[in-house]
Amino acid sequence: MRKNIVAGNWKMNNDLSQTESLISDLKSQVQTSNAEVMIAPTFVNLWHAFEALRQDSIEVVAQNMHFADNGAYTGEVSAEMLKSLGIKTVILGHSERRAYFNETDESLAKKVDQALQHGMRVIFCFGEELQDRKAGNQETVVKSQLVNALCHLDADAYKNIVLAYEPVWAIGTGETATPEQAQDMHAFIRSLFKERYNNDVADNLSILYGGSVKPNNAKEIFGKPDVDGGLIGGASLKAEDFFAIVNAF
Ligand code: PEP
Repeated sequence: MRKNIVAGNWKMNNDLSQTESLISDLKSQVQTSNAEVMIAPTFVNLWHAFEALRQDSIEVVAQNMHFADNGAYTGEVSAEMLKSLGIKTVILGHSERRAYFNETDESLAKKVDQALQHGMRVIFCFGEELQDRKAGNQETVVKSQLVNALCHLDADAYKNIVLAYEPVWAIGTGETATPEQAQDMHAFIRSLFKERYNNDVADNLSILYGGSVKPNNAKEIFGKPDVDGGLIGGASLKAEDFFAIVNAF
């Protein structure tokens, strides 16, 4: 059975005191939920967030990691470092990492391998740009991102993979894919994994939607049969909005 997941990507927001305050707001609003709930604070506050949420059901996850074990990679963070804090899940391939830090399908394939070899779960992000959608090429672009970065994996590896379809034109823009556009793409992705692997892999894969999910549109988007939750940027920075989205399930 695939899981419903709502993950908040805090990006480069929230210093230490803001992290403390948002976590305290989140803790005061935590109810039992029909979804797994995650937050991804900046690296420098990961340990603090992890400690603060140790007794809670909210999982603290990382926004990125490097593909090497260790070494001369100034400013980078390894899988072992994350694991030593207790972090079990990492977001890889966010479009901002691709756009501003030159991440490619090839480097992401190495990161995915590294995370899986260390027993971590990966939330793998991908999605087309506006010009791809306007040209009607969204499925071709998404297919090539997925095939190039993931399809070397064996079927068993997908137990530790979560997909996050994030059309770039909908991230932080206030423009959301319609629930139908999200459903069409998620169904396409699931059929791709059915074709490349088997029904079991496809049916058990959680596919999240990301791109301006807000309290007022979450229910309709999450109500689509192939949408298993969301990766939430802006709206994850306010506890009230984030939990309204979590409670949309
Ligand atoms: C994101 O960055 O993953 C994201 C979905 O951002 P937003 O919700 O702000 O569009």
